[in-house]
Amino acid sequence: MTTISTLSPDRLPAFLAAMPKAELHIHIEGSLEPELIFALAQRNGVQIPYASVEELRRAYAFSNLQSFLDIYYAGASVLLKEQDFFDMAWAYLLRAKADNVVHAEIFFDPQTHTARGVAMETVVNGLHRACLQAEAELGVSAALILCFLRHLSEEEAFETLEQALPFRDKFIGVGLDSSEVGHPPEKFAKVFARCRALGLHLVAHAGEEGPPAYVWTALDLLKVERIDHGVQSSKDPALMRRLAQDKIALTVCPLSNLKLCVFPKLADHNIGLLLDAGLVATVNSDDPAYFGGYMNENFLQTFAATGLNAAQAYQLAKNSFDASFIAASHKRKYIDLLDASVAAFV
Ligand SMILES: [Zn+2]
Repeated sequence: MTTISTLSPDRLPAFLAAMPKAELHIHIEGSLEPELIFALAQRNGVQIPYASVEELRRAYAFSNLQSFLDIYYAGASVLLKEQDFFDMAWAYLLRAKADNVVHAEIFFDPQTHTARGVAMETVVNGLHRACLQAEAELGVSAALILCFLRHLSEEEAFETLEQALPFRDKFIGVGLDSSEVGHPPEKFAKVFARCRALGLHLVAHAGEEGPPAYVWTALDLLKVERIDHGVQSSKDPALMRRLAQDKIALTVCPLSNLKLCVFPKLADHNIGLLLDAGLVATVNSDDPAYFGGYMNENFLQTFAATGLNAAQAYQLAKNSFDASFIAASHKRKYIDLLDASVAAFV
């Protein structure tokens, strides 16, 4: 039994930073910092429409979804060789380690790269090598989840799956990301059924900007094990009961929600409400290079704005391990680590 509720409030920020945690919602292409984009552009002789790191950094203060996507794709265009994918993932994993992330389940968007003529093998091998090195050198366990871009067709998702199957041992599951509204989960029911038959873990973005109905269909038609975002679920009491009952985790990304105006202010975020309703909510960074912060920044700003307490911090960290796809024995090991970190603080 934890004694976390006795933590003095002035020590809460230090505890948030120090507590071990898992990150379950991070798009690796969204972790590309301007400095690395410039370094890779130079190394690969790729022209990008920004004169300097500073100019690119300024453009990160985007005003809408399209301005974000423009930069996101300009950034991705510098990724050509296996080493580039390794360098991107390694930079993220070092950053994660600094925030006491001990386990990461990392999304990647192969279609963003195969559409530019980069081979699936190049993408997967570079990212996978970084995961192996993180385990060996940083003590951070990491796994990959392949995401289908939902604005593209299900047929294209099937093609992507076929290209990835030779590397089946290098990713643990599939997800669904990109523009949500107008692209409901059911559009991908067949390809998810195929992935399920292959024994892959299943997750999907749903209820970020889209309605609770998308969360229902992600659960009932795609049969996903976790919902990415899912914050719109609070509009549907029956859905809230279902999520609590079936212990379906939500990978919530507060700073992303703020940047994309899902909530007008961080103080309005519903993560406390989700926890109070007994949901397995977690905190994650989504596209940290673009949305203003990695894991600890998400925790620190969210707690400062919403007044969440130390017991909720513990719950969020514990949820992140419970909701991960690691073996039960590993979950136990990480939760023991979390309890040790509590003991060191109270
Ligand atoms: Zn996301």
